[in-house]
Amino acid sequence: MDQSANIVVGSHIWVGDLESVWIDGVVLNITGEDAEIQTSDGRQVVVKLSNLYLRDAEAPATGIDDMTRMSYLNEPGLLHNLATRYGINEIYTYTGNILIAINPFQSIEKLYDACVMEQYKGAPIGELKPHVFAIADVAYRAMINYGKSNSILVSGESGAGKTETTKMLMCYLAFLGGHAASEGRTVEQQVLESNPVLEAFGNAKTVRNNNSSRFGKFVEIQFDKNGRISGAAIRTYLLERSRVCQISDPERNYHCFYLLCAAPPQEREKYKLGNPKSFHYLNQSNCYELTGVNDAHDYLATKRAMDIVGICEQEQDAIFRVVAAILHLGNIDFAKGEESDSSFVKDEESKFHLDMTAELLMCDPQALEDALCKRMMITPEDVIKKSLDPLGATVSRDGLAKTIYSRLFDWLVGKINVSIGQDPGSEYLIGVLDIYGFESFKNNSFEQFCINYTNEKLQQHFNQHVFKMEQEEYVREEIDWSYIEFVDNQDVLDLIEKKPGGIIALLDEACILPKSNHESFAQKLYQIFKNHKRFIKPKLARSEFAIVHYAGDVLYQSEHFLDKNKDYVVPEHQDLLSASKCSFVAGLFPPFPEDMAKSSKFSSIGSRFKLQLQQLMETLNSTEPHYIRCVKPNTVLQPAIFENATVMQQLRSGGVLEAVRIKCAGYPTHRTFSEFLSRFGVLAPEVLEGDYEEKVACGKILEKMGLKGYLIGTSKIFLRGNLMAELDAKRTKR
Ligand code: ATP
Ligand code: MG
Repeated sequence: MDQSANIVVGSHIWVGDLESVWIDGVVLNITGEDAEIQTSDGRQVVVKLSNLYLRDAEAPATGIDDMTRMSYLNEPGLLHNLATRYGINEIYTYTGNILIAINPFQSIEKLYDACVMEQYKGAPIGELKPHVFAIADVAYRAMINYGKSNSILVSGESGAGKTETTKMLMCYLAFLGGHAASEGRTVEQQVLESNPVLEAFGNAKTVRNNNSSRFGKFVEIQFDKNGRISGAAIRTYLLERSRVCQISDPERNYHCFYLLCAAPPQEREKYKLGNPKSFHYLNQSNCYELTGVNDAHDYLATKRAMDIVGICEQEQDAIFRVVAAILHLGNIDFAKGEESDSSFVKDEESKFHLDMTAELLMCDPQALEDALCKRMMITPEDVIKKSLDPLGATVSRDGLAKTIYSRLFDWLVGKINVSIGQDPGSEYLIGVLDIYGFESFKNNSFEQFCINYTNEKLQQHFNQHVFKMEQEEYVREEIDWSYIEFVDNQDVLDLIEKKPGGIIALLDEACILPKSNHESFAQKLYQIFKNHKRFIKPKLARSEFAIVHYAGDVLYQSEHFLDKNKDYVVPEHQDLLSASKCSFVAGLFPPFPEDMAKSSKFSSIGSRFKLQLQQLMETLNSTEPHYIRCVKPNTVLQPAIFENATVMQQLRSGGVLEAVRIKCAGYPTHRTFSEFLSRFGVLAPEVLEGDYEEKVACGKILEKMGLKGYLIGTSKIFLRGNLMAELDAKRTKR
């Protein structure tokens, strides 16, 4: 919004530079387009008027807790407000209905105590300080009062605090809808304890976050008609598989591997584990320990959590046997065999790990070696066994490790769901979504593509909710409102998911066609999306392509797109493990139905993900959404550091800026005529007594109050910013 027209001599302003650093000052003089400024750090500078932003000199020193109530709404103002609040440990700030949560990177005293929960219980929103509990409370009240399901969507980039926020939300909902502690292992306890279990197997240290969730999660908490938690379901999305066998310094593999290596001696002995440095899947990085984390302690804590979510001792043993087997599997190396292009297990040490793997997975060592080093080839004449070269055998080994791990993860999620139990008679639910935020790195592959696709979907949902809902209401109410333009991202979604012809469909096609590779796939994209305004072919690119996402352009390297899209288990691996003498392991590899095995060997990860997202959106669309935007204040993961540019970028990509703009430009408070009358009728009893139509009566009351900034629709009153508060004040003063 251009506010420079309102700047006069004496105006309090912000002067900025390129790095999103702002300093406050006062206008001394204006000559044409230039203004002379006295800055608060004692300098006098001349700046273009258009580079100045109005500042509210009367804003409270502790900041404003709802940014839509700020007098002047501009970037420096928003940032200053958030930074001020962050500086005094007020990490939560509203922007209308959206809660912004800035990661404190330290625990703030008494922020989440039981007595705080007690305070927020039933308190009208806005009465207390902004808080995650307030959002959970609103969702819960809305559910009880209107009998409608609600959802809370937590988003933000890696390390912004989504998972921690989600846990707070779940704690609060358990507090509201929980059962008396005496009832033993309650549903809510199981829901809460599912977190450490899933984190042990699905989280890892990355450069962005020491406890980064490598999967998306939607937890559906079901309630009965008394508002008690009666069941729950957890859905997970796209676990990062490549991490199991490939990590780079200073990241770590999934936590569970290190936990197990730190288990009590007799257990380590049982699984033949020792120092994590001796395992290839762990020693590709030099990071083994995390500051503030005790793996030995967490191993026991994970087992206790497993007890609570209903994973029995025997199953726990099988799970950790599989985890150990993956570590041993990764240490099997291959050497070139005598025949050309063949390989065998390299040396005594590799042989030891092969035997250990086989023992732990309870399969035959020779069969394991064959499954790793050989492939059956079916020709029209015959079935022949072809050997793989050492590289091929290594790829086969890593493929097996990834498949076993992802099946194990899915098993855990399934088991937790079964043991918590769904409530078929549930009246309504609150869904909590903790899913990866927008990603744009130097190298972006299929994972980033899927993640950013998810965010486009969520952004559209957000847009629709915040913007379209607002606009449509104006239209319905036949109120003239000059629309603020907003960017709908349906065109990006079409580019990605349209069937036929979208990128996912073309990728599936490339995975099926015999001679295609990533280059031919990219060429096809270039050809088809030549004129698409959301698609860019970089100059001279042979296999890269860029998508113009709502949060910025992202350049994708298509090299591994085809491989990563294929969810294909080698039949040799399937046969090996479904024959395991361990029923747990065999259960991870149920036999294919006969006809399936023949018809579709290829199953597309992209298409399945698309379907999962569609289902998620359907669920979300049937709920009343609430949004929490988590923000990472700095890239060094330290407390008390607030980097303006880092924060600004996140407010932009989270749609917060747009939402603020729209909200303030419009009339944020809407009340039906009867709601309005029952609340404010007391201000003009004579109007209530008169025999007016509701609409006319509302008009008369507003007229009598002499207020500006309202509109009267066909069924509702629309109030500008603070009008509701002003009316309320008049009401209480009476
Ligand atoms: P990812 O996408 O990588 O999973 P995330 O958004 O889920 O990231 P979290 O794991 O929730 O990020 O948070 C990262 C770290 O920040 C936490 O491990 C914790 O140290 C700190 N943190 C986050 N929120 C809070 C909070 N409310 N209070 C104290 N510390 C917090
Ligand atoms: Mg997380």
